[in-house]
Amino acid sequence: MAKILTIAAHPDDIELSCGGTLAKLSSEGHTVAVLDCTVGELGSRGSAELRMKEAENASKILGISERYFLNFEDGNVQPTKENIHTVVQYLRMIRPDVLLIPPKFERHPDHEAVHLIARKAQFLSGVAKIETVHPFSGEVQTPHRAKKMYSFMQMYDFQPDFYVDITSTFDKKTASILAYSSQFYNPKSAQSETEAETVISKPEFLHFLEDRAKYFGYKCGFKYAEPFQSIEPIGISSLSQLF
Ligand SMILES: [Zn+2]
Repeated sequence: MAKILTIAAHPDDIELSCGGTLAKLSSEGHTVAVLDCTVGELGSRGSAELRMKEAENASKILGISERYFLNFEDGNVQPTKENIHTVVQYLRMIRPDVLLIPPKFERHPDHEAVHLIARKAQFLSGVAKIETVHPFSGEVQTPHRAKKMYSFMQMYDFQPDFYVDITSTFDKKTASILAYSSQFYNPKSAQSETEAETVISKPEFLHFLEDRAKYFGYKCGFKYAEPFQSIEPIGISSLSQLF
């Protein structure tokens, strides 16, 4: 069984972009961990504390076993030496086989910054001469580099390298998104009427997510799918792996 680490800028990013894929991986027995680089303190609705609580609930729905928050500055995430070093510490602590990271080009600058941070950290984490200590125990760490690294899709489209069938976990994905009740439109919540409306708090947003998953699924004969792009070229030992 493999260990998958998803790195994202804000709590709710992973639910929106690859929640169906993560729920499927955890149901197959793989270990799924998440690193949220901020606690989303800049969100127009709710508070950082509420979002962390919501993230905990969403994690339970998707079967995420470990989730860490890094407290980088929301809205101003930068690929600084210090931030990259912190992510290296977490990579060496979590020791994932596979990394899922934000795409290179995104509407939100924090997403692009986390793409850069994750890529640099993934490389440096495997360099023996880079010295780090465990973020909690302070013990000296050994190098580690994940074998594979893929980008999930956020707001902007890219040309995917493959699509994951999430038909069986689409309901879990939706439930994990709705766990962020302060952020999304909820017809049963009075709060949805009184708080500031944002791009994602409109009722149309949930329809958009479903339509998009259907659009990607239809291309491959699935009801719903999530698209991914490989950072490195994908090599297979035989074409039979794709039969
Ligand atoms: Zn985000």
